[in-house]
Amino acid sequence: MTAQLQTAARQWPVARGDVIAPQPFKVYTQRDLERIAPLAAMSEEARFEMKVVSTVLPFRVNQYVIDELIDWNDTPADPIFQLTFPQRGMLTEGHYEWIAELYRRDADKAEIDAAVQEIRLELNPHPADQMEMNMPRDEVGERLDGMQHKYRETVLFFPSQGQTCHSYCTFCFRWAQFVGDKALRIAASEAQRLHAYLRKQPAVTDLLFTGGDPMVMKTKHLAGYLEPLLTPEFGHIQTIRIGTKALSFWPHRFLGADDADELVRLLERMVKAGKHVALMAHYNHWRELETPAARAAIRRIRDTGAVIRGQGPLIAHINDNPAVWARLWQTQVRLGIVPYYMFVERDTGARHYFEVPLARAWEIYREAMQQVSGLARTARGPSMSASPGKVEIQGVTEIGGEKVFVLRFIQGRNPDWVQRPFFARYDPEATWLNHLRPAFGEEKWFWEEEYEALREDRLAVAA
Ligand SMILES: *Cc1c(COP(=O)(O)O)cnc(C)c1O
Ligand code: SF4
Repeated sequence: MTAQLQTAARQWPVARGDVIAPQPFKVYTQRDLERIAPLAAMSEEARFEMKVVSTVLPFRVNQYVIDELIDWNDTPADPIFQLTFPQRGMLTEGHYEWIAELYRRDADKAEIDAAVQEIRLELNPHPADQMEMNMPRDEVGERLDGMQHKYRETVLFFPSQGQTCHSYCTFCFRWAQFVGDKALRIAASEAQRLHAYLRKQPAVTDLLFTGGDPMVMKTKHLAGYLEPLLTPEFGHIQTIRIGTKALSFWPHRFLGADDADELVRLLERMVKAGKHVALMAHYNHWRELETPAARAAIRRIRDTGAVIRGQGPLIAHINDNPAVWARLWQTQVRLGIVPYYMFVERDTGARHYFEVPLARAWEIYREAMQQVSGLARTARGPSMSASPGKVEIQGVTEIGGEKVFVLRFIQGRNPDWVQRPFFARYDPEATWLNHLRPAFGEEKWFWEEEYEALREDRLAVAA
C-alpha cells in the first residue's frame, strides 16, 4: 500500500458511503509460487525453501494480501509475510531435509507424497482429541460429522462449503483440513442434520459457524443454514456466531463481491428477527485493520446491527510483542470491534516455530493490558483450548515460597470447573497445559479424575 493511503487509513476509519472499488478474487497456491511477482526479488534459495515447506503444510494467498497487507520492503520479518508465506523454520531440520533432498534428486511424485504423508501424521493433525471427544452422536449412536459440542451452551458447526479460507495462516491449527486428506477432514454435508440436532438441544444458546472460513461460502448457502433458525422452534438459539478471517484476508467479501449485498441483507434480517449475530473476527496484527477496504467492510457489517468481536492467537514472529497487541486492541475499539480472546498457539503443525512460552504469553498480555483503556480490556487470555477446556493463565505469583502459575477454566467440559482458580508449578519453558504439573506437591489437578472418566466414556463409545 502506498504511504499516502497508509496515512489516510490511519486518519479516518472510513465514513459511511465511501466507495471502495470492487476487485476480482485472485488466489495463489503452491503450484503458483513462481507467479507471485514480489517473490522474484528474493533469492532462489528462499523460493526453494518456500516450495519445500508448502509441500507439507498448506499454502494459499490472495492478491489483496500480497498488494495491501504485506510490506515487501520488510520481508522476511514482516508479520503479514510470516502470517501467510511458508517459512523454513516451520519444518524441523530433519523433515525439511527429507523433502528438500527428494526435490534435489528429482524424486517422483509418489515418493514425495509418501514422505509428506508420514511427516503430516507426525505433526499431531488433530490436537485435543477433537474427532472423538467433541463430535456429538444422534439417537442411534451415529457420529455427527461436521459438528462439535464440547461446552453445554455452544454447538460448533463446520459447513462443508466453508472448509477453506481466502488465504491460509502459516500457523493454522486446522491445517489438516486443508491438505486434501478426506480422513482428516471435519465437514458436514447438510443443513438438515444440524437443524435436527439443534431442535433436540434446548440447553444450546449459541451456534458457532466455523471452518476454514464460513465466509468463503456463497451467501445462498449460508442463508440455507441460517434462515431456518428464524422459526420459533429455534427460539433457544439466541446467538449466531460466525468465525471468520475474511475481514482481514478478503474484506471485499463484504463490499463489492457478487453476493455481498445479499450477505449484508441476510445479516440484517437475522438481527431484526431478534438474533444476536456476532462475527468472531480473527486478527493477529493491527496492520490488518489499516486498509480502506478493511475499514469499509467493518463499517458495513456494523451497520447491519451485527457485532464484531476480535480474537486471535499469540504467535512468535508475528505478534509476540505487547505493543502490537495494545495497538491491535485500541484500533479494534476505535473501529467498534470488541476485543474477545488472546489464544495460546495450539499443539499442532509447525508449533515449534510459532510457540511462545506461557510465562512470556502472560507478560505480553499483561503489558498490553496496562497500555489500554478499560474498553480494550475485554480480551481474555492468554487462553489454551485444551481437551478439558479453555484454560486461562491468570498470572505468575509466589504462594508459601513456591512460584506458581495461577490458572482458571474459562470453559470446561464440566461447567462446574469454570472459574475455580488452580495452580501449576512455575515452568519458564512450558508452552501448553500438558507441560504443567500441579503445584504444592499435589499429584493431580482437581479436575483430572473427572476428566479421565469423561474421556474414557467418550473413547469407549467411539471404539
Ligand atoms: C471456544 C469454544 C467455544 C466458545 O466458547 P466461549 O467462551 O463461549 O467463546 C465453543 N466450543 C468450543 C469447542 C470452543 O473451543
Ligand atoms: S483463517 Fe483460521 S482456519 Fe483459516 S487458515 Fe487462518 S487460522 Fe486457519
